[in-house]
Amino acid sequence: MMKTTVKSLERSRQNLFIGGRFVEPKSGNYSASYDPTTGESWYEFAEAEAADVDAAVAAANSAFRNPAWRRMTQTDRGRLVRKLADLALERADELAAIETRDNGKLIKEMRAQMRAMPDSYHYFAGMADKLQGDTIPVNKLDMLNFNVREPLGVVGMITPWNSPLMLLTGTLAPCLAIGNTVVIKPSEHATASTLALAELITEAGFPAGVVNVVTGAGRSAGEALTRHPGVAKYVFTGSTETGRRIAANAASNLTPCSMELGGKSPHVVFADVDIERAVNGVVSGVFAAAGQTCVAGSRCFVEASIHDRFVEALVARTGRIKVGHPMLDDTDIGPLALSAQLTKVESYVASGLREGARIAAGGKRPQTDELSRGWYFEPTVMVEAQNDMAFMRDELFGPVVGIMPFSSEEEMISLANDTRYGLASGIWTQNIDRAMRFANQIEAGTVWINTYRSSSFMSANGGFKESGYGRRGGFEVMREFSRLKNIILDYSGAMQDPFVIRLK
Ligand code: NAD
Repeated sequence: MMKTTVKSLERSRQNLFIGGRFVEPKSGNYSASYDPTTGESWYEFAEAEAADVDAAVAAANSAFRNPAWRRMTQTDRGRLVRKLADLALERADELAAIETRDNGKLIKEMRAQMRAMPDSYHYFAGMADKLQGDTIPVNKLDMLNFNVREPLGVVGMITPWNSPLMLLTGTLAPCLAIGNTVVIKPSEHATASTLALAELITEAGFPAGVVNVVTGAGRSAGEALTRHPGVAKYVFTGSTETGRRIAANAASNLTPCSMELGGKSPHVVFADVDIERAVNGVVSGVFAAAGQTCVAGSRCFVEASIHDRFVEALVARTGRIKVGHPMLDDTDIGPLALSAQLTKVESYVASGLREGARIAAGGKRPQTDELSRGWYFEPTVMVEAQNDMAFMRDELFGPVVGIMPFSSEEEMISLANDTRYGLASGIWTQNIDRAMRFANQIEAGTVWINTYRSSSFMSANGGFKESGYGRRGGFEVMREFSRLKNIILDYSGAMQDPFVIRLK
């Protein structure tokens, strides 16, 4: 068991966080969470079922109505969110170690993420007292017509296992700043960091029930939450298939959703670039985090005139990538987070070979004793790829890139847009006119020009097509998590004919 000062992790069994307390699940059932470097269990999390989810939603609804939260001034709410940011910064390295142990992501990346995360809490905390409505002309005398923005109520958040805390922050921080209450259902493959955050929520002084965490499987805890009539909005981050299911569940209660789903993002390289720089960008776009990022640039289109030189440089760079234990600072790629993920990646590489693609680098589990127990996969470059091959159509969520040549801008745009997804995209070129033509025509929520995976919590991000709807980040998110109420006030004091609508 890892030594940590986060109290919930000093126990090898973790409970649910409901109404400000850690409580046992009503069923008494727990499941193992596995360390991806060894495949061994390192703690057990509680399996919430419908009755636990009911209790969490009830606690969140009661907190929403509690004057201690509902009538807290906006400035004080912002102050609480800032306090949470300060506590998260104090514990950043500890939270990073928990993430790495739970999902196998690199400790150096998790430390950077956790040290940066509090900035985004501060950014959203600052919005607590800046969300404003408007006054509207009414064409009647002595009457005021205005809109106010108010919180929605209980927001249900369902999160994935890759970077759980960072992905949660982009919605939790603004939700709290606006005055919503929250029930979080983290992925059953990485629950520990969200439970650690729950402790900080209490320490920061949020009233009980404002934040609740129900752990458990998607098919039980997740289903119960997404069918619950007491939830005002769902925020889902995960696969397109699960998103479709959740949207259908939510529709039965007419509950709106914000969906951040999967991707199969195109990464385009033109002949006018510095090849080494573009190679570095493509490597960072698809191999960072062992390819387990929603924006992974997994379909790479290279201008035909430099295709062979580019592939040669990419293969050489890929050969220098160090696959290793995620706690070591010189590791570039750690294991995949789940054994099922490893099997999935292997089977897609095999199907790519059957469909006519060729492996130019990687393509298998590393063959060293030291890594044989973990869920590692070599960074893999597949050439002679085609958009209709299964590994180019579906999201693998692993370190595999397919390369295709193109001969004209028109061909490139049509190939790049030939996908059911529309999350992100990237282009490498020195020609700004061409870069902007790409930006205008690509069907994706994010466009990177001469960079990839750069992100900012100050801009609104989200998907097109089957990559989802709704936006995270920037001021836009404040509209996502609040609702408009129109208020009309008559201060004329006049007696009206009750059967005739007043025209002036
Ligand atoms: P997943 O869809 O398997 O699971 C995500 C969450 O949904 C988990 O908490 C899971 O328990 C829950 N869930 C599963 N079935 C459910 C059901 N029937 N009802 C309610 N909840 C249910 O995704 P994952 O494997 O954890 O994460 C990887 C996926 O997430 C990839 O597709 C990736 O692209 C996507 N992702 C998207 C973004 C983005 O911002 N667009 C960010 C990160 C990850």
